[in-house]
Amino acid sequence: MFEKNEILELQIEAIGSEGEGIAHVNGYTLFVKDTVPGDRIEAKVVKTGKNFGYARCERIIEPSPDRIEPVCPISKRCGGCQFQHLSYEVELKFKQEKVFNCIKRIGGFKDEEIPMLPIIGCEEIMHYRNKAQFPVGVDKNGETVTGFYAERSHEIVDTTKCCIHVEENELILETLKAFMKKYKISAYEEKINPKTRKPEKAKGLVRHIMTRKGFATGEIGICVVINGNTLPNAAEFTDMMLKAFEGRNDVRITSICVNINKKITNVIFGDELKCIYGEPYIVDMIEDIKFKISPFSFYQVNPAQTRKLYGKALEFAGLTGEEVVWDLYCGIGTISLFLAKKAKEVYGVEIVPAAVENAKENAKLNGIENAYFTVGKAEDEAKKLPKPDVIVVDPPRKGCDEKLLETIMNYKPERVVYVSCDPATLARDLKVLCGDGGYKLEEVQAVDQFSRGVHVESVCLMTRKEK
Ligand code: SAH
Repeated sequence: MFEKNEILELQIEAIGSEGEGIAHVNGYTLFVKDTVPGDRIEAKVVKTGKNFGYARCERIIEPSPDRIEPVCPISKRCGGCQFQHLSYEVELKFKQEKVFNCIKRIGGFKDEEIPMLPIIGCEEIMHYRNKAQFPVGVDKNGETVTGFYAERSHEIVDTTKCCIHVEENELILETLKAFMKKYKISAYEEKINPKTRKPEKAKGLVRHIMTRKGFATGEIGICVVINGNTLPNAAEFTDMMLKAFEGRNDVRITSICVNINKKITNVIFGDELKCIYGEPYIVDMIEDIKFKISPFSFYQVNPAQTRKLYGKALEFAGLTGEEVVWDLYCGIGTISLFLAKKAKEVYGVEIVPAAVENAKENAKLNGIENAYFTVGKAEDEAKKLPKPDVIVVDPPRKGCDEKLLETIMNYKPERVVYVSCDPATLARDLKVLCGDGGYKLEEVQAVDQFSRGVHVESVCLMTRKEK
């Protein structure tokens, strides 16, 4: 078909599921990163397969009217954002269609069976993310670098600035670098096996730094992940961090932890957490509910949009105060506690023990006495709970376990509310529940939690067909 390195003129027509531009030449599909539908470009073929290939944009001949200048100077190299060069309007349209098309193609629904509400977009598309995990490493000159991995690689693009994260991270990263230099603390270096693309050898101490900010409270938590048992000069590290934020009354550091991860792995956290300053959690608020959040716990990354997402989930649950509700994959009990205020009882199930501990404390902290939490797999624990009137699920990207879908279908609650961060697995599960499962898809609401990125969150309501 095409030769590698061949130069082509392409018209970009659509956006692929990973955010790349798509062009067709004589029925053959080419994916081109960092391009926008409507762009006319000169591209070089980099890889070809039987049905599709990849090309690199060499020159933009005529830019699309939807193309914008990226705010971020490293957007091309960094693997973080996919849509820095695309207008936000078109990004939202892409996300709305992504959810719709997944439900249609993977879920097997007809157009008229997909009751989709217009996507809820962000008011603020910059500096919205409350959590960041920066890899720490060494560059060619032996200098410590922090930043983000380049796309599909473990090469760190060195930066302390990011336009989607909170601005405080810049100060935190600069302070970490200064601390490591002053006390000669080494950064993690890993050797990647080019065949398996997995790390196989490693040395050096500091691997990652994770930060989380409570937007409502101004509390900041820092967690340094190390390949060793202790962070040398930990007291000085704390001093330097606190000093860096001295005089700021809008934010304050309330938690500094060290996490120990000596395994050669891509998984960021190890099992052991040591708190070296403050508490092993930060506190944040959503509406009038307070939450303790440990570094191990999941917490939605976009606070402004989280309110809207949970608001919809609560609305879809249709509670009157009489219902028994399950909140499966409940994390620190965020959705559970909102539900509990409007239900008879709420039962949360979550696999991460630290998150369940947070959930129990959070119920107490807010004087909520009708929410109960269990550690374990939703697919194993749910069937032991009292019969539900409403089930809420909010699984990770891989979606619900088949066993759990069976449990839902056996218990036949009136309503099922499905919060999803991956429309493909959502659609797969809707197919089961709305197929033989006896449910009708009533509402689908996409909510943009990750502006400038390709991921999209959504929440669906299903009700029983036979009453
Ligand atoms: N509802 C929460 C958390 C959603 S994220 C919130 O909105 O904040 C998904 C959660 O599912 C994570 O906390 C993850 O730890 C948990 N999880 C992953 N697999 C699980 C399983 N098999 N059973 C129960 N919880 C699981």
